[in-house]
Amino acid sequence: MVTALELYDPQIYELIRQEETRQSGAIRLIPSENYVSKAVMQASGSCLTNKYSEGYPGRRYYEGQQVTDLIERIAQERAKKLFKADHANVQPYSGSVANLAAYAALVNPGDTIMGMSLVDGGHLTHGWTVSHTSRFYKSVLYPVNPQTGRLDFDQIEALAKKHRPKIIISGATAYPREIDFEIFGQIAKAVGAYHVSDIAHVAGLVVAGIHKSPVPYADIVSTTTHKTLRGPRGGMLLCKKEHAENVDRSVFPGLQGGPHMHTLTAVAVAMAEANTPEFVAYAKQIVKNARALAEKLLEYGFNLVTGGTDNHLLLIDLRNKNVPGKKLAKALDRARIVTNYNTIPSDPAPPANPSGLRIGTPAITTRGMKEPEVRQIATLINRVVENIDDESVIEDVAKEALLLCSQFPVPDHFIVPNKNASKL
Ligand SMILES: *Cc1c(COP(=O)(O)O)cnc(C)c1O
Repeated sequence: MVTALELYDPQIYELIRQEETRQSGAIRLIPSENYVSKAVMQASGSCLTNKYSEGYPGRRYYEGQQVTDLIERIAQERAKKLFKADHANVQPYSGSVANLAAYAALVNPGDTIMGMSLVDGGHLTHGWTVSHTSRFYKSVLYPVNPQTGRLDFDQIEALAKKHRPKIIISGATAYPREIDFEIFGQIAKAVGAYHVSDIAHVAGLVVAGIHKSPVPYADIVSTTTHKTLRGPRGGMLLCKKEHAENVDRSVFPGLQGGPHMHTLTAVAVAMAEANTPEFVAYAKQIVKNARALAEKLLEYGFNLVTGGTDNHLLLIDLRNKNVPGKKLAKALDRARIVTNYNTIPSDPAPPANPSGLRIGTPAITTRGMKEPEVRQIATLINRVVENIDDESVIEDVAKEALLLCSQFPVPDHFIVPNKNASKL
């Protein structure tokens, strides 16, 4: 069947097809990426993109909200149930905007916020220098312990006591260990700060009960919806009742206009999927796969920041291999293994050409790959590292990667059995 897009805009149609081919023919190890289900894709590409819904269910600024009100209420209820939170705001356009809304809900411009340094694994929006968050707020950054690569709570507490931030942010974008959100909550309480927890990366592990949830210990929890949670690209805020009104006002009208209803609709679908035993099994396998990948890479003499992983990602310190992160990431991409170069704690090299590589297992786990495939992938990575300047080896690896991909097709598109959706 010829689709409307193919007829109307063959150029863009062809490019989308090429991207589909790229995604299915590559081992995608970027830890923030995934494959969504057919159901999520359908909701995301639906007529809900046509609707303006400024406001919240029951109090909108445009008419015609008979359906959108129902959908947003379902999304809110599913989010509250899934994360065991008092209140959910499902409108943030992305994780970055969700973070801005969380800060603005709690403090004023010029106040001090304290988050993890980007070069040590934190996110831009946690107050990093080039992010506007460091212009709107005074920003204090905590590093990880340079020896262990782990969070150092004595140091975090000392920094908090010294700088008296109004917000302490927990959560990371490149940290391979479980984060103790309870201690963050205690430190925040001790210095009279709010605790904002950003679980963008690990949200899927949190709802599956594999990573401890910050919900009991944080004033506001911020997340993306598209990483391990496996929904469409978007953001979400969860909070205690006392912050509900501030959070809602902060998102709209504080920061955003109309919510992206097609995305919000697809987020609702993704949360129904996340509330299934199949999702829990997927989340468990993500961690098993990351561990197997770590073990095999250690066997090949790779150094891993913190020595391993508790979650979905690992950070390789490439210095003993004498290959810069960027050069390796580009060679791996030619070998159909897609990763991203990344700083390592106290990286002597600049962020634009750092000493590390960040890899993760969510997307390959969605494709059904398990420990044997993951060990094979470690072998392929090692071959590229050892033959970084030999294009014929890289070509061979690409062939093997493609073969592996063909054995684990992108579930086109998988359907998560869901007997509970209507009850949520
Ligand atoms: C990915 C990420 C974000 C930002 O999400 P976007 O949707 O890209 O804006 C925020 N915080 C953390 C910790 C992240 O990893």
